[in-house]
Amino acid sequence: MAFLEIEHLEKVFGPLRVVKDFNLSIQKGEFISLLGPSGCGKTTVLRMVAGFETATSGAIHIDGKNVVDKRPNQRNIGMVFQAYALFPNMTVAENVGFGLKVKGVAGSEIASRVTEMLKLIGLSEHGSRYPFQLSGGQQQRVALARALAPRPQVLLLDEPLSALDAKIRVSLREEIREIQKKLGITTIFVTHDQEEALSISDRIVVMHQGIADQVGSPFEIYNRPATKFVATFVGTLSMLEATVIDAASGKVKIGETEVTLAEPVTGHKAGDKVSLALRPEALSMEKTQAREGKVRGVVQSVNFLGSVIRTKIDVAGNIVSFDMFNNPAYKPPVVGETIDVWFANSDLLLVRD
Ligand code: ATP
Repeated sequence: MAFLEIEHLEKVFGPLRVVKDFNLSIQKGEFISLLGPSGCGKTTVLRMVAGFETATSGAIHIDGKNVVDKRPNQRNIGMVFQAYALFPNMTVAENVGFGLKVKGVAGSEIASRVTEMLKLIGLSEHGSRYPFQLSGGQQQRVALARALAPRPQVLLLDEPLSALDAKIRVSLREEIREIQKKLGITTIFVTHDQEEALSISDRIVVMHQGIADQVGSPFEIYNRPATKFVATFVGTLSMLEATVIDAASGKVKIGETEVTLAEPVTGHKAGDKVSLALRPEALSMEKTQAREGKVRGVVQSVNFLGSVIRTKIDVAGNIVSFDMFNNPAYKPPVVGETIDVWFANSDLLLVRD
């Protein structure tokens, strides 16, 4: 059994089944993100692990013990919320030491743990300040220190960065990941921000309508999305409709172009329609030996995004986006022009519904 094992977890609110047969094995020290759009059930899963929400059915094992019927304070977890949720009338040091005081830890032990935690979050000089004297990012670091001070077995983070501005979000997410690695603490991080999940997770669980659609490393989720939902939710991509010619050999037709996919089109027969996806970086106006596939389309828009130029073309009613690295010597295509763009057949992703 893994360190944190979630089995057949379900949550029903009245007529709504918001979490459906959710299963997940998390290794000790792993950083897992629950990623999905608003309302998909990720916070409900996290709250059930924390014990703030009772599970309708299923089991949650932490270090071999089923805690599903235990109260939050009996589970040995630390949690950080979206809103900083610090006690406004307590100093930073008092906030960080709060969980230890509640547990009846001796004053001298609390003082040394608070010093250690403030050092860990880089706020050693701020122990006597009050929350209102700190920036949003600093307050969230204090919330993290408060959650970690009692040395929980599992750290739960519920969109801890969403109230912060863009720059702080990026630096704080890196800091959280560093602290998590340093302590080796098993962590579940809830976010609806795909870039955030891709950048800091060991593995990502993509959730959709209460179900874990796919579990995998950031690399797998981005490069090998299992479903249409995962493919469209994570990153930008273009969908192309294709007709199967020969399922076993992976031969399909996109418009008038025949291509052979890297894998057989299992579960389909000749004549079936299938969905293929392409990432913008997989397409190029330049033909090379590796890029054997081609689509022809009419340029709809050309957007300069700084490091890349994103062009959208209409391929028989499908809008296909592709990126070219910015190069002052490069002449971008013009709206209305008909162009060919090339791709490696192995970059075509076959996605199921
Ligand atoms: P968000 O990012 O918006 O928080 P989420 O993916 O975390 O979304 P949840 O908060 O887990 O989603 O909610 C999942 C579904 O359960 C939603 O449809 C929500 O309205 C519903 N829900 C959550 N809590 C309750 C509750 N206490 N009573 C009834 N329905 C609830």
